[in-house]
Formats: sequence, structure tokens, C-alpha cells
Amino acid sequence: MCGIVGYVGFRSAREVLIRSLKRLEYRGYDSAGIAIVNGQLNVEKKKGYISNLKVDFDGTIGIGHTRWATHGNPEDRNAHPFVDCRGEIAIVHNGIIENYARLKGELISRGHEFKSDTDSEVIAHLIEEHYKGDFKEAFFKAIKNLEGSFAIAAIHKKERRIMAVKKESPLVVGIGDHENFLASDIPAFLEYTNRVIVLKDGEVCELTDDFARFYTMEGKSIRKRVEYVNWSVEDAEKSGYEHFMLKEIFEQPKALYDTLTSLESRNEWQVDFGRITMVACGTSYHAALVGKYVIEEILQVPVDVYYASEYRHRPEIVEDSMGIFITQSGETADTIAAAKKAKELGYFTLGITNVVGSSITNYVDRVLYTSAGPEIGVAATKTFITQILTLYYFAIKMARIRGRISTRKYHVLRENLRRVPHDVERTLKMNERIMKESEKISRARDVFFIARGVNYPIALEGALKMKEISYIHAEGYPAGELKHGPLALISQGVPVIALVPEDKTYSKMLSNVKEVSARGAYVVGVSPSKDVEKYVDTLLKVPETDPLLSPFVNVVTLQLLAYHTARILGREIDKPRNLAKSVTVE
Ligand code: GLU
Repeated sequence: MCGIVGYVGFRSAREVLIRSLKRLEYRGYDSAGIAIVNGQLNVEKKKGYISNLKVDFDGTIGIGHTRWATHGNPEDRNAHPFVDCRGEIAIVHNGIIENYARLKGELISRGHEFKSDTDSEVIAHLIEEHYKGDFKEAFFKAIKNLEGSFAIAAIHKKERRIMAVKKESPLVVGIGDHENFLASDIPAFLEYTNRVIVLKDGEVCELTDDFARFYTMEGKSIRKRVEYVNWSVEDAEKSGYEHFMLKEIFEQPKALYDTLTSLESRNEWQVDFGRITMVACGTSYHAALVGKYVIEEILQVPVDVYYASEYRHRPEIVEDSMGIFITQSGETADTIAAAKKAKELGYFTLGITNVVGSSITNYVDRVLYTSAGPEIGVAATKTFITQILTLYYFAIKMARIRGRISTRKYHVLRENLRRVPHDVERTLKMNERIMKESEKISRARDVFFIARGVNYPIALEGALKMKEISYIHAEGYPAGELKHGPLALISQGVPVIALVPEDKTYSKMLSNVKEVSARGAYVVGVSPSKDVEKYVDTLLKVPETDPLLSPFVNVVTLQLLAYHTARILGREIDKPRNLAKSVTVE
């Protein structure tokens, strides 16, 4: 995820592009760059914030980019725009070109020289390869070769024309008078125009000073409707959602899909270990706990999970373990310190993070990236769900390599995993139902979340979400532990959220539900089974899935429950009190 912009008209392109990029900085911010044509093609690009750019050229047509690296570390040479060998064509790209390695190999063999490690650079060289004097034609020919997700804008030194295409990454056009705009998102140009055309997948647009034309990728003309947008810039940044957290909850199907695609394209998996030690903090710690259940179940290797701050003070026991360190930002001080310690002890270390080139990547032997895109809300949602997906994938892949599962079972598990984005999409349809339920929860002083097995960490995560954004006291418990203490806190009307998947925990969970019901609890069942309705006060019926994958649909339900409860209470959801997004202190 990143931001791309384009401008053609009569204003200073430098000013429009920089202002527009600043509006998109929330989408990604590890590098930035712009390209402007004024007789020649000028490019300025740098690692870091947009304010680092030193643009000493100007013109009235250009493109710009703010990057969220997926291929190649954040460095000046990996920043967009990219130019072709002759320095005539410039492109910016948002997304992932899945077949870039093959394309790059072919282009190199035809004499093209590459300057970056990115997937995106192939686009500039592909257009050059097809260019025989007609930029538009070359653009159409080039994009036919691309696989993956992309929003691309391209310019040519000799033309007053921006060519752009969209597939699975967002792209919108802003219509002005004798000027036109292009961006990943409406806020980028909302200060100049509120006349907007939203591109659909597989659509191409051609922008000049005086027109915006639209085509299919095969070059057939299409008609598009102009929409008038009345949002404020702030609303527009959230794409109309009231909070970033809600937007990010709804982005989860895409985040899962992108992460799975990137994991599937990876070859490097082989590693030897007898057991696994996982280390993390906060929500990432809960992801590690889900990982423990899944890895032990599928890979049959023992897994220990530690809070990073605790692991650091553990005696130095050298064992046949590999260390997995999970941090959304890649900057969590405790997790980084723990990774350093494990490496000193001689462990093979693996980092799981959402941020390419972040600090943790310097301290581990190997990195798996989640592709959730930037997360602005302090309460982690889409990064958590992609972390657990990564751990499932790791378990399945390692089990296959080690011969723990048959080829058939491996394919079944992978197919099930591929259905997860769809299952989550269906869960999001419960939004209104969950909103209603939250009314009741918002009046509570304490809330309990109970579950067993692989969903026990989801109960912990549900409670954490509830605490951090609604400020209601919440506890997650393994349901079997209630009778050893917490049951004393269950009195008339106390909400208990019970996760009841249709797996081996089913009947035991129903006993626990009866146990709390008998003490007067108000029980909210979260289950795919309609039968559960008989035992609870109300049922949130989640989509049916393979029970081992039930954490995905359950966590989305609990995220929405926490979100709506906090919203009803008027909390500052995206910036809860006393909390920070990335915890860089020990
Ligand atoms: N895959 C491209 C890169 O790593 C684009 C990433 C983005 O969308 O910012 O440079």
C-alpha cells in the first residue's frame, strides 16, 4: 500500500504533487519521489518523508509516489518514480508485480539496465521495450504482461499525457477545468476538485489538460460517471469510515489476500530445529499464542511463547530451538532486545513484521513480511490477522517439508487457508448485528471472554481490544480456569463472551456457558452453530469454517464488538489514552 498521484494542467506541478502526496502520507511513508516533464524528464526521489525531497525543477505535468516498501529496502534507489534506460519514461506503482522476477530476467537479457531491487522498475522498462513512437500504445502493450496488483501512472518526456491503470490497488481521477488529477485516494486532490471518477479493476485512463478518457485493458473505450464528493479531507482519508480502526477492520480481507499471495511466492523455507520459541508483546503476543496451538497441532513441534520483556531475563538456556520474533512495527524495543539475545545464544531467528527494512530485520536471520499496509489506528487489527495467517502458513509449509502431513492434506489445508479472506468478508456482514449487541456491553463495568484451545488467545485478544479502546475492564480466560478463581467475579448481568467453535472444545465450552449462566451472567455466544442459541442469552452466529481456522472469524467479531462499544462510549478510538502505536522504549 502506498500513494500515487498525477497532475496535468496549468498549475505548478511541483506544488500540486507535493501537497497531494502529503495528504496521502498516511498510506505509506518510507520514501517519496516525483517526476515532472518540462521539455525534459526530471526526477527527485529519496528515502524518508516527503519533506526530505529537494525539488529544484517545475512544470505543469507530473507524477508522484509515497512508498510502503514490499520489494527492496527503503533506500533512495528503491524509491519511485522509476525511469527507463533512455530517461524518457517515468512510472509510479502501488501494489505488487508478482511475475516481476521473470520479466526482469527477460528484460535484462534484452539489454535493459536496472537500478533498483523493486518489482516496480520492470514497468518502466516494459513500456520502453514496446515504445515505437506511440506512448499510449506502448503503455497498453506493456500492462498486458503484468500479473499481480497494481495502480500505475506513467508519463513520457515528449507528451502531455498521463497513462494509468488499476487492478486491485485503488485509483481515482479528479476532474478539473483545463486540468486533471489522479491519485490513490480522494483526499489527495480534494482541495482542487470534488468531481471524482473511481476506476474499477482492469480499467485504464488517459489524462490530458482537457480530457479524461477511459478504456478497458484491451483498449476499448468505456464511459464513466462523475461523482460529486462532499466529504471533508479528514473524512476522505478514512474513506468515509468514522475511524481508521473501522477502516482497517474492513481492510482485513485484502490484507489477508495480499499476505497469502506474498507467502506463496516465497521459496526459502527450509530450516532445522527441534522446538520453537516465540517472543512478542501485546497483540503480537496473542498472535504467537495462536501460532503455538497451530504449529503444535500441524507440525507437532513443541512451542514456547514468551512476552519479550520476560524473555530477556530468562536464564541463558541453549536448546535446539529456533526463535520467532513478532512485531508489527519492527521497532518494538523489547522484542528487538530479545532477538539479539537469542541470536547470541546461537538460535536460528525469524522475524515477522509489517514494515520492510524496520530495525528487527537487522537482528534476525530471516524475515517474513505481513502485507497489511500501514496501520494507523493504535489498536492492531489487520496486522494481527495477517500475523496469524503467516504462522498458519509457516506451520503448513514446514509440516509439508518435514513430511508430517501428506501431500493431499497439505493441499486441503492450503485451500482452506485461501478461503479465509472470504470467510472474513462474510463475518464483516455481521457489523450491524454486532453494533446492536455493543449497546448492552457498553453499560457493563467488567466483561469476560472465555474460550479453549486455539481460540483461547482470541479470548485474550478480544479482552485486550475491549480494554484498550473502550476502557471497560475486560479479562480473557481459558474457560476451564473459571472455577479456579474468576467465577467469583461473575454476578448478575456481567457479560461473558463465549467462543464456541464446532471442534473438540464444543461440549466443554457449553458446560462452561451453563456454569456462568447459573451465576447470572449475560452470555453472548460466538459460534457457527445455531444450537448454541439454546444455552446463551444471545448468539452472534459466525460463518462456518474449518474449526482450526475459527480464530479468523472470531477475532473479527470481537474487534467489531470492542470498536462499537468504544464508539457508543465516545472514546478516542484511533488514539486511546496512554498508548502509542509503536513501543520503542523498554
Ligand atoms: N511493490 C512496490 C515497491 O516495493 C510498491 C509498493 C507500494 O505500493 O508502495 O516499491
